[in-house]
Formats: sequence, structure tokens, C-alpha cells
Amino acid sequence: MTKIRDFFSGATNFIGRISHIIRISALIAVMLALAFMCVIRLLQIQVVDAGKYTHHRTQTFTAEQMVPAVRGQIFDSHGRKLNTNQIVYKAIVQRAFLPFDEENDVIAGVLHILMKHDHEWLDEIPITINPNHETGLFQFKNAPDVSEDELAHFKSKLGLNYDATVENCIKALADNYRIDTDKYDEQMIRYIGGVRYEMELKDFSFKNRYVFAEDISMDVIIELKEKALLLKGVDVVEEPIRLYNDPTVMPYLRGRINAINEQQYAELKDSGYSLNDSIGFFGLEESFEPVLKGEHGIIEMTRDASWETISVKVTQEVKAGNSIKLTIDSDFQRTLDEILANHINWHNYTNGTRLRKVHTKATAGSIVVLEVKTGRILGMSNYPSYNLDDYVDLMIADAAGDSPFEYKPLLNRSTGHGYRPGSSFKTVTGTAGLIHGVVERGSAVSCGGQYRIYSDFQPYCWNRGGHGAMNSLTALLHSCNVYYYDVGRRLGIERLSGTAIDLFGVGTDLNCDIKMYPGRMTTPEIMEELMSRPLWEGDTIQAAIGQSENQLTPLHMATVAMTIANGGIRYRPYLVDSVWDYEMNTLINETQPQIIADMSEGNEAAFQAVQDGMRMLGNRDIGAGMLRGLPGLFAYKTGTPEIIKDQLYDSTVLGYYPYDDPQIAYAVVLEGGEYSSWVIRNIIDAYFYDCYEPAMNADGNVTTHWLSWSSPARTRQPKAIER
Ligand SMILES: [Zn+2]
Repeated sequence: MTKIRDFFSGATNFIGRISHIIRISALIAVMLALAFMCVIRLLQIQVVDAGKYTHHRTQTFTAEQMVPAVRGQIFDSHGRKLNTNQIVYKAIVQRAFLPFDEENDVIAGVLHILMKHDHEWLDEIPITINPNHETGLFQFKNAPDVSEDELAHFKSKLGLNYDATVENCIKALADNYRIDTDKYDEQMIRYIGGVRYEMELKDFSFKNRYVFAEDISMDVIIELKEKALLLKGVDVVEEPIRLYNDPTVMPYLRGRINAINEQQYAELKDSGYSLNDSIGFFGLEESFEPVLKGEHGIIEMTRDASWETISVKVTQEVKAGNSIKLTIDSDFQRTLDEILANHINWHNYTNGTRLRKVHTKATAGSIVVLEVKTGRILGMSNYPSYNLDDYVDLMIADAAGDSPFEYKPLLNRSTGHGYRPGSSFKTVTGTAGLIHGVVERGSAVSCGGQYRIYSDFQPYCWNRGGHGAMNSLTALLHSCNVYYYDVGRRLGIERLSGTAIDLFGVGTDLNCDIKMYPGRMTTPEIMEELMSRPLWEGDTIQAAIGQSENQLTPLHMATVAMTIANGGIRYRPYLVDSVWDYEMNTLINETQPQIIADMSEGNEAAFQAVQDGMRMLGNRDIGAGMLRGLPGLFAYKTGTPEIIKDQLYDSTVLGYYPYDDPQIAYAVVLEGGEYSSWVIRNIIDAYFYDCYEPAMNADGNVTTHWLSWSSPARTRQPKAIER
């Protein structure tokens, strides 16, 4: 009984827990229409047996049964299975074969078998066993497991008021479902009532079967079969459940499926969904739901009075869902995760190396890597991250505000969170200034450390001593604020925001195959909306250096870098390389690179100047040792956006490599951290040379981010690899 009690006290998501239970079945290689075939196989055994009873038959029953489709799989770019299926045995109940006055006896019979073998079943009603028996046998579940609203909803479903006691609810279960209180003890009444309540929620009917328990063991199967005559309407079928391989690899992109809820069902019932179905809950499982889900089949079954199957007819063929292949190689993705986690660990471990007077803890971060000439997303890393199998538990804990979730591990920072870009945005402003001709490549703007054009707003350059004469290249190299204040003023908000939005996609949904936060660009409308005031000229020049209300996701930042690397061509960043049939034998559709914006023509000189400015920064860091030994030239721009004045800064970098024939564009964001550019070397090493070997101390902490090519500690000679 312990197991059952645990289940009632902590029950959250049956599907989520089921994966921990004994796995009994093997994956079947050809899974097309598999669910259907397995049902047939079990039934055939019965059909054969049924032959000898033919002459006893006096009456037959015929009913239709839905056969669930097997859901399409999610593969990485090398065809490794990520989200896939595992075949398990399920105990199901069919209305057509369940006599109307015997429901409770049949349910009690199945419950006895499940309890005897210590097996769980689906039961989510908010009543649990009271650990203190003196105050009653039962109690209501509390938050965070069950909210006040959910409890009130449950009571109203039973036809009770919100102030009904737990005893009232048990009585209502017994009354509503006509459970014989002389025949069953209170605990059994609670359990039978729980199953009946779930059956009602899941629209158990002639059309919809009910899944009593999933992943049942052979002991349970044998006993159910032995008692088949008593347990009319109960059947065992082999069917798939979702399996998440490598559950820590990009969980936020792959997503999960969940049981359909009442609201979703109301919206989708006309598209062939039933209340027994699962549906993509977030990530690609959600956005590719129509591709992955497949189509249910229907079979017509006839049984005789002794519960033997006489015939099975397919009236609608089941159709497996299609599978999708991602643009991301899960090995490279894992290395990116390691790079990001190591950098954050290093940052917090070596607080003696700080640049700024206020050292803060790096709490979170993101890395995004794109293929420059297509827009393919090659990697997308978040820190902190999580295990896909723990998602439901984490979500509940997160909603309850538990402390380990302070840094929101479930948030997909790469696409779901907007950051102030800070100075890395100067690449956007610089491009806009050159395209619109308010400055030319060599036009000089003098920095005296402060911008004094306006009488009432005179912001400083970060270098209060002044940079002297700056042009489009040196201003990027030195990250001179005054130069970009002036370019911003000359452009005005309309041209600045117009270029940011239309060319670079800032403040727009980039349509990257999963739901994303569009971010925002500072505009008069945004200022009205957020601040209830008109946009001031001071806002424009602040927006020009990546402050004010600009918010970009790391994916937006990488997209900016990709667009510059392409000389003004922005591709749609995408995650799904292709759609295949279930087993990935036949290609159905291959994603083609899609140009969203193209301002390359006539602007060659403008993009060349921005590229060269970004290259100068890369050149300087080769000298500093960070990139020494790597072939080619580098182009990037960093930023340290201020989050809380003089207290908290983020760190951003966006760029591409190699400068003369760009292959990858990247963005790195660290919350509360510094030196995001230090991981550029690691990203290039990992992507082009399959090599990432940070130097570690005895405690396993990273001491330096990279080992030089000549270092004997490098165990292998790196070699450029084909990707
Ligand atoms: Zn300056």
C-alpha cells in the first residue's frame, strides 16, 4: 500500500512518472501502424481460442474502437533519436463491452490486481490519505499540488459547494457513481470514485476507451487475462508512450507532450482529438504538433457472450505521425552546454579577475550559433538548464516559488527572454548610419568624453577622458559612445528603428520553428506604451548604444551578426532541417533557406565598413592571446549593458567566423557575468576542430578557457572537420 499512498500524496503527472516504472517491452523496428498491429495480435490469440466456443454463442456484441496513432519522432542532425516512443502494455476499458450495472465491480477487480502487484494507475482527484487517522481517513491535497481553484472546480464537478468537506466529497463520489457502501470499505470507495471521476473527465464513452494503467507488468497482464470473464470490458493492448532520450540535451527546444486539457480539447475536438490524447506541450512538440501527431484509426470488434472476439474489421486505417530532423548536432550542442557552464563556473570561482568595481555573480546565460549562409540554427545553449524527464516536477516547484528555481531553469533564454544588448548593438546603429548616408566610412566624430549637443541631457562616453577623432571602424574597435550618440541623433528614431526592425528583425518574431519572444526596439509607440510619455531625443541616442528600451533575445543578436556577415542578407533562423516519414526512410519536405530581408545591393561599402570595424576588435584580441593560433580573422562586437545602475551588468557578444568567408555567426549573453567574448575561442574550437579542452585545476574548476595550439596539454592535434 505504501506505493499507492505515495502516489496519492505526490501524484502530479502519470505520464511523467510512468517512465520510472519497470520497462518491459522492446522497441519494434518497424513502427508504422504499429499500435494497430499490436492490438490485432492480441486479439488474434483470442479469436483462435474463440473458435471452440462457437456453438455456445447465443448473442454477439459489436463496437468501434479508436486505435491511437504512433507519434512521429524528433531526430538530431545526425539522425540520433531524441524524442521517440517506447512500446508498453496498457490496461484499457471499453464502454461497449462493460455492462452498465457492473462498472464499479469491474473497476474494483482491476484495482485489486494493480494494488496486489504494487502498480500505479491514473487518479488525480485532490483527496489523499490523512497521515493522522484520528482526524479522519482522508484529507484534501494542498498547494502546490492542488490550487484553491482546482479544489473548487473538483467540488463543483461533484455538485458540491466550495465549503464542502472531504467527507462530503467521498459521499458525493459514492452517490454519484452508485458505489455500494455496504460492499466496499471507505478506502475502496475513494479509489473506485477516483477512477469513475477520471473516466468522466476523459469522456469515457462508446467512442472513447479509457486507459486504466500504463506500462503494466507481466504479472498484472496474466492476472487480467485469467479474470477476463469477470472483468468485462477490460483489455490489454501494446501501445507506444513517449520516450525522451538524452533528456538533458536541448530540452527547451524539443519540448514534451502532455495529456490534453479540457480547454485544448474544446478547441481541438473538431480536428480529431479525444480527451484521451496527448498533445505537444511546448518546444517543437508543440509547434510541430500537426506534423508529429498522425491520424487515429478505427476498428470494429465483435465479441460473443463469453467475451471472446469473433471478428475485427478495420474501418479507418491508423496513420503514424511524420518525424522531423533538426539542424542541431547533439554532440556539438552538448559541448556548447559545457562551454557555457564552465565559463559561468569560472566567472564565479575566480572573482579576483574582475574588470569592474562591482563584481556580481553570473547567474545564467545563453549561446546561439547559426550557419551564416542558410540561417540554420547549429546550437542553442541555456544555463541553467534541466532534465526533460523532470519537467513537470520542476514546473510545479517553480510555480510554488521554491528557492532552487531562482534563476528560472525552465526559461528558454535563447529565444524566450529579451536582453538589453548594450554596445554590441553599435553594429546595428553603425550599419544604419552608413546605409542612410548620415556618416561615411571615414567620417570623423570627435569624442571628448561627453556628448554635449543637448543642453538638458549630456551623457558620457564610457571613457571620460575621450577617444578623440572616431570613425565607423575605430568607433567599433573602441566602442565609443559619443560616436554612436551622434550617429543616432543624425539618423533620428525612425531610420534607426526602421533599420533595426526591417533589416535585422529586432522586435519581431523571427519565425524560428518554436514560439519565441519578439523582443522590442525603442520607438515612439513603445515609449508611449511602456512609459506613457513621448519619445525624447535622449531616448534615441540611448537606443543607439543598445540601452533605452531595446530588447533582443540571444537569437536576435546572432541574427544581427549573420546579417552583417552576409553583407545585408537576413535568413530565417530555423531548427527543422526536414520532415520524414516515421522511420526516416522517405524524405517528405526539406527546409530551404529563406531570405527575409535583403539590403545588400548598393550597400556594399556600408557593410564592408562594419565588418572591418568588427575585424579590428578581433585583431586586437589575437594580440591579447585569446585567439592566438587559430587560422583566419575574427569579427565581433561586445557589450556590457547596464541592468541596475552601477550595480549589475550583463555581458554580450555577437560575431562571426572566419571574417573572409563567414561560416558561423554567434551570440553569447551572460546575466550578471563578464567576458562573454572569452568563449568565442571555445565555440570555434568546438565547431571547426571538434576540440574543447579547457585547463582545469584539481577541483575541476576551469582555470583558463583555452590551451594554445603548442601546449603539450592538448592531447590531439586539432583538425578542421566537415560539418
Ligand atoms: Zn568615446
